[in-house]
Amino acid sequence: MRHRERGFIEVSREDPGYRPKDERVKDYRAVEVRLSDADLREQAARCMDCGIPFCQSANSSVGCPVVNVIPEFNDQVYHGKWREALELLTEGSCFPEFTGRVCPAPCEASCVCGINTDAVTIRQIELTIIEHGFSRGYVDPRIPEVRRDERVAVVGSGPAGLAAAHKLNQSGFNVVVYEADQYPGGMLRYGIPDFKLEKWVVERRVELLEKEGVVFETGVEVGVDVSAHYLNKRFDAILLAGGARGPRDLSAEGRELAGIEFAMDFLSQQNMRNGSEDVSHLEAISAKGKRVVVIGGGDTGSDCVGTSIRQGAVSVQQFEIMPKPPMERPESTPWPLWPNKMRTSSSHLEGCKRQWSVTTNTFTGEDRVVTGLECAEVKWVLSEPGGRPVPKVVEGSEFAVEADLVLLAMGFVSPGHTQLLDDLGVDFNERGFVTRHPENATSVPGVFVAGDITDGPSLVVRAMQDGKNAAKGITAFLGC
Ligand SMILES: Cc1cc2nc3c(=O)[nH]c(=O)nc-3n(C[C@H](O)[C@H](O)[C@H](O)COP(=O)(O)OP(=O)(O)OC[C@H]3O[C@@H](n4cnc5c(N)ncnc54)[C@H](O)[C@@H]3O)c2cc1C
Ligand code: SF4
Repeated sequence: MRHRERGFIEVSREDPGYRPKDERVKDYRAVEVRLSDADLREQAARCMDCGIPFCQSANSSVGCPVVNVIPEFNDQVYHGKWREALELLTEGSCFPEFTGRVCPAPCEASCVCGINTDAVTIRQIELTIIEHGFSRGYVDPRIPEVRRDERVAVVGSGPAGLAAAHKLNQSGFNVVVYEADQYPGGMLRYGIPDFKLEKWVVERRVELLEKEGVVFETGVEVGVDVSAHYLNKRFDAILLAGGARGPRDLSAEGRELAGIEFAMDFLSQQNMRNGSEDVSHLEAISAKGKRVVVIGGGDTGSDCVGTSIRQGAVSVQQFEIMPKPPMERPESTPWPLWPNKMRTSSSHLEGCKRQWSVTTNTFTGEDRVVTGLECAEVKWVLSEPGGRPVPKVVEGSEFAVEADLVLLAMGFVSPGHTQLLDDLGVDFNERGFVTRHPENATSVPGVFVAGDITDGPSLVVRAMQDGKNAAKGITAFLGC
């Protein structure tokens, strides 16, 4: 084992990589492999224990949003003290097994080591700490010693709702989580594909929360199956953690053709099939034998690429309207900020053609079914001096592509005025999301909010942190 003090000089960053492409596209199991303990301890030795660990900065735009004490747990891992590392890790993170698999790791983007070399592989270290915790029996159900009288309803079981439920339950409150879907987990279960996050990982955590005393009521849409009035009568506080699943649409000629689908409909169906859920009531969306075009170059688009390939698409293309990002960190997002640079996922490596600066003008079709797209290249120009850049079609750049399935993955918008939100009477912000006041309160006393429903589409780690913040706000509201 290298000396801790010289680790960052003597050891290079090592990433575990993925299972071989030809093997992994035949199933939906996790694509990422893991480093051995010995290799991981060497990687932990690369942590410089620097004076100001930007990786764990509490500044919202830099470092780990749950403020994990990264240098401290790296040191324990270096010394092979996995239980001690786990204790430190779980001080900040409620569910490191989720973030250890799917977090884009803003901590690594602000790692001091990363200024002139590669950042420490923090996410991998985090994942191994928690998985050792589970496999070695360090993660036991922790049942609160004192139960309070107060009851809290959590609406939505995504990472925000789960984190809040965990914290509130640990403080002794009686927590009931309501979830409209058949199983808890939100996007962890129905959005993120199994090849990034296998669902036994979510189930394992939900079972633990149940053993600790959290009650889950699934298949219950609050506002429809039970009313806001019912919640108000039976609970002392309510947390809204319903996410932001409203898909952004594309208004182009031919949009009404069959075969143009929203990404979430496509992805959630596959996740449900993988989880042996009944999908017979849904119109099947399949990429098998099809030429697929994904519109939207983000993570959801990339998940559509990987899922299409596994379903047996004959070709997959991905279009993004924004320009191709630079390969290296650009000056506009200097260290320690999150760099706006090119990212290539395991799905992209499985066989996908990517194009940037592309707009779709028209969908073409036959017999009311999509057969292609008419597109053009765009250039981003300033609308006015000092104004925002807007896309302008490059003359003569028009081109057509054939497609049998088009997946719209252009982000998410506010869920808007649902029955529940209207019945409760909460205020909305200018983007249409539920307004968050200090302490995660809403405009209605006793009603709190957390996660994508107030922030808009974000990250698992941010939703988790917001759930923790909401739990604090609720605890203070209940006078504890
Ligand atoms: C395809 C996809 C891939 C992603 N990949 C990543 C990734 O790799 N890494 C990452 O960090 N982030 C990723 N994200 C983003 C991340 O999943 C979300 O930011 C996060 O899940 C938001 O958490 P949340 O708890 O606010 O809401 P959600 O996870 O959306 O959960 C909200 C839950 O509330 C339920 N609900 C809503 N209304 C009601 C009601 N009235 N009654 C009962 N239940 C209700 C919904 O059914 C849902 O289950 C991805 C998102 C998508 C869509
Ligand atoms: S939760 Fe994300 S940002 Fe925080 S330490 Fe883990 S990988 Fe890094």
